[in-house]
Amino acid sequence: MLIYDLDFTTLDNTLKEWNEPAYRARQIWQGLYQHLYDSPERFSNLSKSLREKLAREFTFPPFTVKTCLDSADKSTRKTLFQLPDGNLIEAVLMRYGDPADDHEARNAKTRRTLCISTQAGCAMGCVFCATGQMGFKRNLSSGEIVAQAMYYAQMLKAQNEPVSNIVFMGMGEPFHNYENVMMAIDRLNDPGGFKFGARRMTISTVGLVPQIKRFADEMRQVNLAVSLHAADDEERLTIMPINKKYKIRDVIEACKYYIEKTRRRVTFEWALIEGVNDSPEAAKRLASRLKGLLCHVNVIPLNPTHGYHGGASNGARAQTFKQTLEKEGIPCTIRMRRGVDINAGCGQLAAYTGQEM
Ligand code: SAH
Ligand code: SF4
Repeated sequence: MLIYDLDFTTLDNTLKEWNEPAYRARQIWQGLYQHLYDSPERFSNLSKSLREKLAREFTFPPFTVKTCLDSADKSTRKTLFQLPDGNLIEAVLMRYGDPADDHEARNAKTRRTLCISTQAGCAMGCVFCATGQMGFKRNLSSGEIVAQAMYYAQMLKAQNEPVSNIVFMGMGEPFHNYENVMMAIDRLNDPGGFKFGARRMTISTVGLVPQIKRFADEMRQVNLAVSLHAADDEERLTIMPINKKYKIRDVIEACKYYIEKTRRRVTFEWALIEGVNDSPEAAKRLASRLKGLLCHVNVIPLNPTHGYHGGASNGARAQTFKQTLEKEGIPCTIRMRRGVDINAGCGQLAAYTGQEM
């Protein structure tokens, strides 16, 4: 059993069954989530026999690193992990700083955002997405999700750097693996453990309506992003098969419900695909859908993938799209494509392993 799959109560009960003293579970929990120990040997505060027992009963990091790539500008690192059953998942570290600052100021202000996977593959089949093109393999357990964050947290800790944000935007659809993702969030959030603030986490969903409502009812502080990419049902259906099940109007209604319940802003994501969804008319259609909603639009030029012929819109098209939205009162940011040189787009590293990159 993977140690990161246990919540505190289960760990505590296990150690009680082993006739360990009451404080033992807390010690191990702090070792895992505060000192970020990644193997039983590192628990120097435990007896040798207990360390050996932990090693026998539990697995620690559940994967081996298959590939690790840094972008040319060193701002993005992407790691491809192999799980014991052979499945491949990936997680990305992105550093955002202000290049105008000197080295020290930049280091202090730099954000370190982790993008982690929630499934191996994805069942949603968005045509432009490398993960969608792979199909669905399986859900990740809560511990397999947590372990990706721990991997990078350990690496950053060695350089005295903290993780600033965690986004569930790697491979997979988080709301298609709802329970495990929420358990992972609770574990990362635990005040006696990793203490990672919910407001610094973001879930991105393809727009599963019942789960958006459930998420709203749970009143979590985690940010919500919804991948829209088209404001017309027919158009959305050509790139996102999920639109057969949930129409844009229903997705927006669910977002409205979320905003009313939580008073939190929703981010809508829009991958700009040349000649498909990047016209000023598309921007106007989007604006009329979002009028009056507490929201923000992130547009990001498409990362081209082998399985889809579409290309990225150029900078001028992106600017016009943004300005059209803003004229209609919808706040919008153009996101840079990160790590394109290392296939850091969603699912691309896992999908293209074994192929030319
Ligand atoms: N399944 C979730 C989260 C993972 S995908 C979702 O779809 O929201 C994270 C984001 O990357 C989504 O907004 C998705 O639409 C976007 N994306 C996928 N493939 C992309 C590509 N080739 N170029 C740009 N964005 C892409
Ligand atoms: Fe799945 Fe998200 Fe990719 Fe769509 S964009 S196939 S939902 S990972």
